[in-house]
Amino acid sequence: MSGPAVLLCPACRQVVPSAAGEQPSFLPFCSERCKLTDLGRWFAQEYTVPAPIPPEDSESIAEVLRAREAES
Ligand SMILES: [Zn+2]
Repeated sequence: MSGPAVLLCPACRQVVPSAAGEQPSFLPFCSERCKLTDLGRWFAQEYTVPAPIPPEDSESIAEVLRAREAES
C-alpha cells in the first residue's frame, strides 16, 4: 500500500477529487459534464458503424453503459 490512489478523469485527464467515504455518482469522471462528454463520444462512435441503431435499442444501450460503469 502506497498512499491513496489517484484517479484521472478519462475525459479531461484531471485528477478526480475523492473525498473519503463520499463517492460522486459520476466516477470515474471528475464531473458530470465530463461524464456526459465521454458518453456523447461513445455514442458518436456507435453511430459510425454501418448498421444504425434503431431508437428502440436506446434502452439496451443504456444498460450497456450501466454495465461499463459497474466494471470500472
Ligand atoms: Zn474531467
